[in-house]
Amino acid sequence: MEIRANRLDRAFYLHQAEYEEAALRVLRSGRYVLGDELNRFEKEFAAYLGGGHCVGLASGLDALWITFRLLGIGKGDEVIVQGNTYIASVMGITLNEATPVFAEPDVHYAMDADELETLLTPRTKAVLVTHLYGMMTKMQPIVDFCRKHGLYLVEDCAQAHGCKDEGKAAGTFGDVGCFSFYPTKNLGAFGDGGAVWTSSKELAERFRVFRNYGSEKKYHNCVQGANSRLDELQAALLRVKLRHLDSLNEQKRQIAVRYLQEIHNPAIVLPKPAIGTENVWHQFVICCRQRDTLAAFLKERGIGTQIHYPIPPHLAEAYRYLNIEKGTLPKTEILAEQVLSLPSYIGLTPEEQSEIIRAINDFSLEKDI
Ligand SMILES: *Cc1c(COP(=O)(O)O)cnc(C)c1O
Repeated sequence: MEIRANRLDRAFYLHQAEYEEAALRVLRSGRYVLGDELNRFEKEFAAYLGGGHCVGLASGLDALWITFRLLGIGKGDEVIVQGNTYIASVMGITLNEATPVFAEPDVHYAMDADELETLLTPRTKAVLVTHLYGMMTKMQPIVDFCRKHGLYLVEDCAQAHGCKDEGKAAGTFGDVGCFSFYPTKNLGAFGDGGAVWTSSKELAERFRVFRNYGSEKKYHNCVQGANSRLDELQAALLRVKLRHLDSLNEQKRQIAVRYLQEIHNPAIVLPKPAIGTENVWHQFVICCRQRDTLAAFLKERGIGTQIHYPIPPHLAEAYRYLNIEKGTLPKTEILAEQVLSLPSYIGLTPEEQSEIIRAINDFSLEKDI
């Protein structure tokens, strides 16, 4: 049996007729950008998140950098961000010439709120929280910290569509929630896409203007903007997937529950959701002291895995200019050496999962040399 690390075709075939109907509807409509599908998707996604305003954009990275741009964060400003995130979170900050200040993760792969006070400087303007792997961060301490110090709070929800903390949706705790609809995400499109959520009607309007060359009215450009629009085809397909999102997330949760119950190997550290959170299990990420040996062992048994992520942003070549030495963020760096994502995609069969669980339970550590 060969089990790939990830595959997206099975989620498509699960609702094939609905996707094909939506795609044809758009193709035949003659309207491909900034039309009715986008308007409806924005309303439906905002409603899914519990109210407020949603604005569709071209990608998750655009959602991040445009957010910091519109919040007025730039050169000389600092944004606190966790070290263990996808590099796009950090690029959202640095594309505006602001400086990322890295926080270490806690045992839930989440930003360690206890550290925030020590990272605060007179230049701190915002905190960016990533709900990594679909593991919801406990938000109250971070919300309180931002209120106390007058900071903006932005959430990177690229991996967290449908996550909740104490019943409240990820993305709605602060000023802006940033979403990606890259195909692998829980609410994945069939190409690139992204969105922001905000409770402010005025800010939502500024995103709408910015994404369309800064024009409020055709050919009346009031600010310098970007071309960052979620197209009609993706919006229509996302409307289909959004209708099924809770059930798709439930399927991923059931996969996670089986892994949590059936992996019994002292060499493996299983993910630990925080109390009071609802996770969407974007990735099922374990830790192993001999991660590369484990990955090779699984590969030998026909099982693909992935690493999210092998190089933490502060050690990426792109950020050499920040002059952050290896060893500065020990918890983040250990995670980069130990994390491994197991197959947990929609449509993974019970037999395939049994095979994966069996292989993991068969693995034993090599003697340390
Ligand atoms: C995928 C992802 C992004 C970027 O989204 P794109 O749509 O690929 O630009 C940002 N942050 C996190 C945590 C992500 O997983």
